[in-house]
Amino acid sequence: MTRRTQQKQAIWAAFETATQPLSVHEVRTIASRQVKHLSLATVYRTIGSLLKEGSLSAIEVPGNADRYRLAGANECDHFRCDHCGCIYEIAPCPLAATPSLPAGFRNDRHQVFFFGVCFRCCESDAQ
Ligand SMILES: [Zn+2]
Repeated sequence: MTRRTQQKQAIWAAFETATQPLSVHEVRTIASRQVKHLSLATVYRTIGSLLKEGSLSAIEVPGNADRYRLAGANECDHFRCDHCGCIYEIAPCPLAATPSLPAGFRNDRHQVFFFGVCFRCCESDAQ
C-alpha cells in the first residue's frame, strides 16, 4: 500500500470513528496515531478530495474554522460548547421551519447552532 493510500485510510478512519464533526487539526491528531509525520497540508488536501467526491460534508461553524463529517448522515443541528469548543450533533430543532423570505430570495439550506456548555464541562464545573 502506498503512503498516500495509508494517509487517506487513516484520515477516513478518523471520520468513521468520530462521534462529532472534526476540525482539520483534530483529524490530523487522530490520523497521526496510524500514520506518522502526517502534515496538515496532506490532511487539507485529502479532506478537499473527499469533499469533492461527496464523501464528506462541511459544517460552517460561526466564528470558527469549518468542521467535517461523513456525508449522508442524518440531518441535524449543532451545539458548540463555549468552554471546550467541541461541536456536537443534536436532533434537528423543530423551530427551524421554512423561513418567509422576501420576494426574489431562494433558500438553499439552513444551519442552526446552539451555544452553551457541554455535559463534560458541566460535570467538571460541578467538581
Ligand atoms: Zn465542553
